[in-house]
Amino acid sequence: MNFTSTRTSLVVVACTAAVIVACSSALGPPRAANVDGLRLGAAEKDGRNWMSHGRTYSEQRYSPLTQLHKGNIAKLGLGWSLELDTSRGQEGTPLVIDGVLYTTTAWSKVVAIDAASGAKLWQYDPEVPREAAFKACCDVVNRGLAAWKGRLFLGTLDGRLVALDAATGKPAWMVQTTDPAAPYTITGAPRVVKGKVIIGNGGAEYGVRGYVTAYDAATGQQAWRFYTVPGNPSEPFESAALRRAAETWAGEWWKLGGGGTVWDAIVYDPEFDLLYIGVGNGSPWNHRLRSEGKGDNLFLSSIVALRPETGEYVWHYQTTPAETWDYTATQPIILAELNLDGQPRKVLMQAPKNGFFYVLDRATGELISANNFVPVNWASHIDLATGRPVEDPQARYTEAPAVVIPSGYGGHSWHPMSFSPRTGMVYIPAMEIPFVYANPAADTSPNTGWQNGIDALIATTLPDDAAERKALAAMLKGRLVAWDPVRQREAWHVDHPYMLNGGTLATAGDLVFQGTIDGKFIAYDATSGKQLWSFDAGNGILAGPIAYQAGGVEYVAVMVGKGGAAPLISGFAMPEDRPGKMGRVLAFRLGGSAQLPPVPLPEPRPVPDLAGTSTTGTAAAGARLYADHCMVCHGAGAISGGVLPDLRYSAALTDAALWKTIVLEGALAANGMVAFESRFGAPQAEDIRAWVINESRRMAGEP
Ligand code: CA
Repeated sequence: MNFTSTRTSLVVVACTAAVIVACSSALGPPRAANVDGLRLGAAEKDGRNWMSHGRTYSEQRYSPLTQLHKGNIAKLGLGWSLELDTSRGQEGTPLVIDGVLYTTTAWSKVVAIDAASGAKLWQYDPEVPREAAFKACCDVVNRGLAAWKGRLFLGTLDGRLVALDAATGKPAWMVQTTDPAAPYTITGAPRVVKGKVIIGNGGAEYGVRGYVTAYDAATGQQAWRFYTVPGNPSEPFESAALRRAAETWAGEWWKLGGGGTVWDAIVYDPEFDLLYIGVGNGSPWNHRLRSEGKGDNLFLSSIVALRPETGEYVWHYQTTPAETWDYTATQPIILAELNLDGQPRKVLMQAPKNGFFYVLDRATGELISANNFVPVNWASHIDLATGRPVEDPQARYTEAPAVVIPSGYGGHSWHPMSFSPRTGMVYIPAMEIPFVYANPAADTSPNTGWQNGIDALIATTLPDDAAERKALAAMLKGRLVAWDPVRQREAWHVDHPYMLNGGTLATAGDLVFQGTIDGKFIAYDATSGKQLWSFDAGNGILAGPIAYQAGGVEYVAVMVGKGGAAPLISGFAMPEDRPGKMGRVLAFRLGGSAQLPPVPLPEPRPVPDLAGTSTTGTAAAGARLYADHCMVCHGAGAISGGVLPDLRYSAALTDAALWKTIVLEGALAANGMVAFESRFGAPQAEDIRAWVINESRRMAGEP
């Protein structure tokens, strides 16, 4: 291993994992977020801290702490809780460094908390303009921080990378990593590798070109940038790898952006000195529209290995050639050593959206094995000789619409999975969700969301009957899957009531922790899947839990707060809940007896009296407009999933003038509801109102 930390390298020989804190402090006064390559390298065996996004370089999300185990889990109780100042989705994985917990919340804010007492130490708000919400496919979330030598690094929704002094929360430097005029966002956690901060971005639902960038952690100077899809071939390619990649594209893809955003997995492998990035879906989704239906479209839906010093391409493995279903390969990547055919192999593992679990050789990218961890119908299997999926041609929806499973939500999305070296299992927050894909009509939808012609289909095909809607929602399933990566088969699973649930944590106490969207935080027996303990968190959970030690006590902590893609788009399939519940941080310990503070629930809104309401709009036209412009945030069928206000209750439904000021003129822009007057006019706004009035009447049981 080659760690470049010059300050600590002089005493490497004397430092072992057990005395690393003492060694570091011997070099100078103790400081906040005192993290370097030496400490990160030693963290695998030291469970006291959680110093990087996936806890350690391997990102196994496995805690070696054993204070808490199957025998005493019944005594687990709330140690402390902290209420947050936002009701939007909470997807953050906190860091814990030497007794301080640092986490991000919705709207890219950062909170520092005493990890033993729960006392807030400081908060930083980058003051993201609320209009940035319009560029975010999947809520105004943030998944976490990186720490390095006294600083924390944050990516903001509006595309900035911010270095904070970890002791005070004051910015040290700030750079804009995206074109503010383009629909980029950042929701993922940066990583720091050998003094460079690596950050990606999102926006492949809106027509952008993906890339990752490395910045000097000390100064914010850009070190390198790697684009994941080729640009206009009439201009010089940024690298030889992109010149070769361009041979796998057709048409004028660069005018559409191409996609390939790196919005979550960025993993450093100190054993091979490689940086693995997970690359997202095509933009637009539809391969026929994006690339004339030709070519594999590298490096979409691929895992790409880069040199961390230069960003130079080393190898890639493409999970879904010619991607056309939003099958990103951005999902979490775990590094491990597995015993395969009697030989130890250094592998990486991923369970991307397309429903197959992949085991790759980390040195070469060679596919070792793959099998589906949820039901899939787009491919029968992965051919190990070619490394390619064997597809069902009908799933490409070129001739006719197709019901395909998994959906764009994926068999698994960003929700962190974990790996226990003790049980040998990977714990996957999995989903079983089919979806109808179709080609667009000739007047293809504008570039404000789906951009692929499936829009109107979803918005208008929700069944009218409430019981039928419930039956449809019941088809969308969520489960915790314990996956054996050696045998490539399921060891056990637990079904959840709803499709979308939290990330997982595995511990050396042979426990697996996971939260659910209906607000339970649960501990399972890692070997059998038996539920051992549960806590009512009072709000939905999406995030991945962590374990750490403070004051000699083991804690398990998790961010609570419903949001993300599904509660925005698919409210009909979410637990019934009142919008506006605030997020919170919960930390549990043995014998903990803290109580959740009473939090007043938002007042329920009355159903508007629409008896005397008239409209000049046409509901059928409004349905199509709603699907193109509104549905990604306000939900199919205008049904709220408990994050944004439910439009069917809107007071503006009875007031055409008020509706116009909100929809066209941006009266609620401070809440993230931008003005749409550059996209359509007053007659179209009224068409949308007519359709939402119909949906509100339907909800109230009126004919
Ligand atoms: Ca996507």
